[in-house]
Amino acid sequence: MLYRLKDAGFQAFLVGGSVRDLLLGIRPKDFDVATDALPEEVRRLFRNCRLIGRRFRLAHVHYGDEIIEVATFRAAAAPPEVDDEDHREIDDARVSDDSGRILRDNVYGAIDGDVWRRDFTCNALYYNIADFSVWDYVNGAEDVHARVMRLIGDPELRYREDPVRMLRAARFAAKLGFTMHPDTRAPMDELAPLLAGVPAARLFDESTKIFLGGHGLASLERLVDFGLLPHLLPDTAEELSRDPAGPAAKLLRLGLAGTDARVAADRAVTPTFLFAVLLFGPIQRLALANIEAGASESHAWSDATDEVLSTQVRRVAIPKRFTLPLRELLVLQPRFDRRDGRRSLALLQHPRFRAAYDFMLLRAEAGMIPAEVAAWWTEIQTLPADERHERVAQLAPAEGAEPGEAPDGDRPRRRRRRRRRPGGGGGSDAPSA
Ligand code: ATP
Ligand code: MG
Repeated sequence: MLYRLKDAGFQAFLVGGSVRDLLLGIRPKDFDVATDALPEEVRRLFRNCRLIGRRFRLAHVHYGDEIIEVATFRAAAAPPEVDDEDHREIDDARVSDDSGRILRDNVYGAIDGDVWRRDFTCNALYYNIADFSVWDYVNGAEDVHARVMRLIGDPELRYREDPVRMLRAARFAAKLGFTMHPDTRAPMDELAPLLAGVPAARLFDESTKIFLGGHGLASLERLVDFGLLPHLLPDTAEELSRDPAGPAAKLLRLGLAGTDARVAADRAVTPTFLFAVLLFGPIQRLALANIEAGASESHAWSDATDEVLSTQVRRVAIPKRFTLPLRELLVLQPRFDRRDGRRSLALLQHPRFRAAYDFMLLRAEAGMIPAEVAAWWTEIQTLPADERHERVAQLAPAEGAEPGEAPDGDRPRRRRRRRRRPGGGGGSDAPSA
């Protein structure tokens, strides 16, 4: 596709993460192309092309389920050279607010201007398909080899233009295992609060890139380290700093590690489960406080979930199609503690059982509920209906003792730590099935 641009007389470069990743020997996630062709010209060349425009007009060329993003060179954001006539025109076309944030900039330029608008030097390498050369205006290749994240230009100015660059720094540093150049790290302490001015929808997009991109756990550590987490996930950050090694922190880390493993194995991941993992600590703390204050268990949990979510979505606009199932998933959690009675088997039929069960396994792994409760729910799913009823009936008073007559010895995690209190979990143990 690069060749079609070239053959039509345009410049065509591979840019951004793909060149960086190729240099590092990582398989690029996607390919971004920069060209001197205007978006309309790109569209004329490719039938399978759609123009999209949010912050900037881009052409998306579709190949099957792959999308190649083709961007026309943009004029420099912060012209590094002297202020001549040409640049005045560019400046007039730019709109920024008092904090220096760029609100609108849709000025086309040439490659040597385009490079200054890129964020980090490692993301500013251009691979020219005409002669396979790498064009490097900012010593990006050197920084890639030294594994250093360095902002192009004046770091403070660049963060003010777009505070999301601080989050991108954390994400790339985590993904690539790069260290931060001290000058690129330093302004964050003062500028992190600027994230409050970023639209919540954009922070949702960025959050999914951070946590569902395969390096979520490492990114979390960087966000904490850089002091950014309180500006993205305030309640989560507070929970983590209150009890950095507690069960909620453990659940968070296990959940993110599990998500990373799923991404590595090319398995589906969802924002629903992700935000359940991120917000469970604060929600649980609030739910327990509600119970302490006399609320019923189910009210305590649904109120706590609503309260934490409503604060969170003001900052990170998690769409309803994720928050609604998230709420269900969390509100079902207390029901795993009650295995006796008809309702326990009804839980298996609940449309959200699968997600709720996966989350319950995570709680067990974090030591929040006894391992044998998790094992029981794992096993019961494998049994035919009549045996399920038997199993519920077996939850007689001596529940803690091994039911020796278990027909199959296939009980994962059975030998994990058990912390059953004498007298068993919630509810009466009357076999009511
Ligand atoms: P990956 O696709 O692996 O997550 P990437 O580097 O390709 O990483 P993208 O978000 O796809 O990142 O952006 C493509 C390129 O556009 C970046 O490499 C960077 O040069 C530039 N870019 C993206 N967002 C910004 C930004 N907020 N400020 C400056 N430049 C940016
Ligand atoms: Mg990319």
